[in-house]
This record gives sequence, structure tokens and C-alpha cells, in this order.
Amino acid sequence: GNMSSISVPPPKCLQKPLTVPYRHMFGPGPSNVPSRILEAGANPVIGHMHPEIFEIMNDIKSGIQYMFQTQNKMTLAVSGTGHSAMECAIFNAVEPGESVLVAVNGIWGERAAEMAERIGKAHLAPPGGCFTIEEMEKALSKHRPTLLFVAHGESSTGVLHPLDGIGQLCHKYNCLFLVDSVASIGGAPVYMDQQEIDILYTGSQKVLNAPPGTAPISFSERACQKIFSRRTKPVSFYLDLSWLANYWGCDGKPSRVYHHTGPVTAFYSLRESLSVLVEEGLENSWERHLKVAEYFHAGLESMGLKLFVKEKRLRLPTVTTIVAPYGYDWKEITSYIMKTHNLEISGGLGPSVGLVLRVGLMGCNSSRENVDMVLAALKDALKHCHKSKV
Ligand code: PMP
Repeated sequence: GNMSSISVPPPKCLQKPLTVPYRHMFGPGPSNVPSRILEAGANPVIGHMHPEIFEIMNDIKSGIQYMFQTQNKMTLAVSGTGHSAMECAIFNAVEPGESVLVAVNGIWGERAAEMAERIGKAHLAPPGGCFTIEEMEKALSKHRPTLLFVAHGESSTGVLHPLDGIGQLCHKYNCLFLVDSVASIGGAPVYMDQQEIDILYTGSQKVLNAPPGTAPISFSERACQKIFSRRTKPVSFYLDLSWLANYWGCDGKPSRVYHHTGPVTAFYSLRESLSVLVEEGLENSWERHLKVAEYFHAGLESMGLKLFVKEKRLRLPTVTTIVAPYGYDWKEITSYIMKTHNLEISGGLGPSVGLVLRVGLMGCNSSRENVDMVLAALKDALKHCHKSKV
């Protein structure tokens, strides 16, 4: 062949315009992005090291400190989704051979353990709805881990894990306390400093209603002391906190050096989403999510559906798990609702597959009108989907 002629022709598909439908995003995430936040992301791309971007990053940092209720100066957003923040937390906090205790109550604990095993040892607390302080203490004194992982909002099971007292307990055992709040923060109270959480992270695409791709994270003084006195470098260069700290201006050094190209348009959207939260106020947002969830749960029960999480105080206000209706195929229900109502709800994930339907109403999606829409779609699905006569 002729080396100077191309052998792969231009694809026909790319000669057609991009089309994306509007859809009600009432699954466990991503949630709908309001036009205000989408438009923020459509601002011009400028250099990721330009002073205007550093100012936007500083604003984001203040927004995260508010959302997390922390004074930690080591507060930033990882360029990546929630998983990148999980790895950033674990790969920086844990050195080879150290052990991590994971309170598994769904897929996020399983995933954290899978990550922890790649550098250290993971001890799994036996899976359950949630863990009491006594159970936590028993496991901490037995395993003496470096880090304890708890998912505050387990989006696979719909459980909101209580956090009070765990941080203090961890510190009694010289252990760092890591909390995943991807599916919960902004929709349920978290007080990072008061609850003595050492590492806390979330994602942009849930309560914040920003597009997926940035992950707010914060580290306590105690976490920083451990991380910055490591004997070994973290296995990931991309997620190395000493580099990220410099890029985000958290290390007190006079100048920032190039680490990676910050996703500037994602920063614009993230900043706007934090502005929305600041405008509403954190307490108002918590209250709205709780009220809407209670209204939703009452509506489900009055339809004869059952909630997967029996204990009210343990129900995640952002993601509701409904016991998969008896006699139905859950997949038929979710696809019927997608096809007929242009609305996404989802089935289970990991340990909850086949057991539940999951509905996420997060950020701007958390409203009574949307609850009514979901309830109507569910009623319609139960009427039209095939029911076996068992
Ligand atoms: N943790 C929890 C509790 C989540 O709900 C999710 C997303 N479903 C993640 C972590 C992972 O986030 P991402 O998909 O953005 O990587």
C-alpha cells in the first residue's frame, strides 16, 4: 500500500450532528444539570494556570469547605469522578502493608476494600445495614487499622450510616476516619470537623447537579500529618496529594507548578453548582431533601410498595431503595418507565441487584412535583408490566 494515503476513512457517524435527548434523571446519578450550571460550563476555555482560574479554584475550595463544614486548608477537587477521589483518599493515606478496615454495607465498601487491597490489607467488617459504635470499636481494637472507611450514603442499599462518635473512636485507636459522601452530602447533614472526619469526598453529579467529572475532597490536619510523613511515595502520580495540594494552592508555597491540565470548564460548572448550594443554604437543602423523601416514602407505601430500609432514621433522603415488587421483573419496570415516561430509575447494584428499585432525587431534582411524576410512572408500570401468577 501507499504509506502516504490514509486507510481509515472518515466515519459517516461523525458527519451527522450530535443529538442528546432530554431525560428525567431520577436514578442514583447522574442527576439533571440545570441550564444555569450547563451554561457556566460553556464559558471560554482559558489556561488552567491563569490567575482567573486560580481564583475560581479558590472559590470552589471555599464552597467545598462550606458544603463539608470544615476549615481544612487541604480542600480541593480531584479531576475525575467519585472513584478518583476514593483512590486519592486511599492511595495517599495508606502505605504498603498497612491495613484498612472497611465497614461494608453495600457496593461502595466492597469497592473501597478492592482498592485498599492493591496497596495494603483490607479487613471487612461483616456486611449489614449499619454498624453500632460497639461493633466499630471491637473491629478497631482487633485489626488496629490505619484507616477506617464508611460510606455515609450507601447508594446501592439506600442506607444512611450514622457518623456521630466514629471519628472520636478512630482517633482513640490512632486510625484515620474516611467517609464517602458521594450520594449523601448536601442532602443530609455532615459536619466534617465536628465529626472528626479525616478524609471526606463527594462527586459533582449528585446533589450538586453538576456534570460528572470533578470530585471534591478534603483532608484533616491529622490526615495531612500522616500523608506528608510517608516513607514511600503514593503509587499514583496523578492522585499524589503533594502535587494536588500545590496545584490547588493548599501547600502554602508561593507558586503553583504544572501537574496536570485542570478541566477548566468542569471547574466553572462545579463553581456554579456550589453557588446554587450557597444560595439555598445547606440547612435548607438538608430539610428539603428530607421532606421530599418523606413525602415520597409515604406515597410509595400508600401504593403498597415496601421500602428496603426498614428503619426510618437510616433511610438515605437522596436515594430511595424500594423492595423489588413481587412477581415482576425489575428490568421490565425500569425499561417500561424509561420508554413510556422518559424517566430513569434503576435496579440494584452489587449486593442489591434483583432486590430493589432505586430512585434518586438529588439537588434540584428533589421536589414534590418530581415525586408525583415518579409515583405516577411506577403506578403505570405496575399496571402494564407482566406480573407472574405465583
Ligand atoms: N460512592 C458512592 C456512594 C456512589 O454513589 C458513587 C456513584 N454511584 C461513587 C462512590 C462513585 O462515583 P463515580 O461513579 O462518580 O466514580
